[in-house]
Amino acid sequence: MTHPFLDLAPLSAARFASIEDRVARLLATEQDVVITQGEALLPLEGAIRAAAGPGTVALNVITGPYGQTFGDWLRDCGATVHDLSVPYHTAVTAAQVRAAFAEHPEIDFVSLVHAEAATGNTNPVAEIGAAVREQGALFYLDAVASIGAEPVLPDAWGVDLCVIGAQKAMGGPAGVSAVSVSERAWARMAANPHAPRRSYLSLLDWKERWIDGGRRALLHAPAQLEMLALEACVERIEESGLDAVTARHRSAAAATRAGASALGGGLEPYVHKASEAAPVATTLRAPADVAASALVARALAADPALPLAAGGGPLAEEMIRVNHYGPDATPETVDACLTALAAALSAERGTADGLDPEAARRAAAAAWSQPRQL
Ligand SMILES: *Cc1c(COP(=O)(O)O)cnc(C)c1O
Repeated sequence: MTHPFLDLAPLSAARFASIEDRVARLLATEQDVVITQGEALLPLEGAIRAAAGPGTVALNVITGPYGQTFGDWLRDCGATVHDLSVPYHTAVTAAQVRAAFAEHPEIDFVSLVHAEAATGNTNPVAEIGAAVREQGALFYLDAVASIGAEPVLPDAWGVDLCVIGAQKAMGGPAGVSAVSVSERAWARMAANPHAPRRSYLSLLDWKERWIDGGRRALLHAPAQLEMLALEACVERIEESGLDAVTARHRSAAAATRAGASALGGGLEPYVHKASEAAPVATTLRAPADVAASALVARALAADPALPLAAGGGPLAEEMIRVNHYGPDATPETVDACLTALAAALSAERGTADGLDPEAARRAAAAAWSQPRQL
């Protein structure tokens, strides 16, 4: 009896290397790409522990919950950390980053999250990258929530460590991830006596034992299921075209934003400026009289398949997340989410007064089909 995902043959080194090359093409990068056998937190942590140490002076940009975690890892490595926090309804600007460099000229490491699925904002990485290059700092970027939803261009933007995962806009598995590493970043790691070595967290192990050996011998048996799924999901993106996939996410975000505003009843986009709203997921501010968590619970009770969630932790009362990524970046799913939120809102209040679900649907449809610059 054959089974679709049991009794798999081991994945060869050549196949593993070819999947890395495909991921490199997706990122339009000439840098080394290391595929890591675990969820994206593995390379996110591994890259910080490899590149940062007691001599590091880091600018840690916080635009959502992940920035907090990166700051904790950096401090744990002994780095001096300057946090730059902005409210979750905005993005950070290159001018704010430049001001931090002027205040602390010794900064030599910058950590940034590109798009935040948890808070719905996205940061202008190209402009920030130019500032980081002028500063000469190493640039670490979490692109887990942006890859597949908007352009991610480590080489053009001067990103030294760019981490991606397959589980958001790529529509792939959560158990595999990747990081592109610049020559500068490898040099910084090699010079760091605190960088993990002979460890599952180690990127240097991959450099020394896999890349420098011509990618002929793997460090350990690769996770075949995840690797095959990653290969399939990159192949699917290549078939549709990366631009078409990102355009679908951009449309889903624009439609959700327009639809929620047209619905009325006090529902509003959480991120004030559309240009700072992430294509991967749209966050909405719940009306003052209704808790976001209650609205989402009602909507999910009616249809558990909807990609809706309340904000995490302290945001649970005020933030609704519409996770329209991967297979959910469709007009049908956006419509279903808007309709469900309208029904939940009128049920919570005991009246549909002030709500116009038909206007929401029209606005969403119009925003979806509007031509949009990539
Ligand atoms: C989703 C996501 C990750 C991966 O973390 P999970 O806890 O598995 O969701 C990392 N960074 C960002 C910005 C994300 O959106």
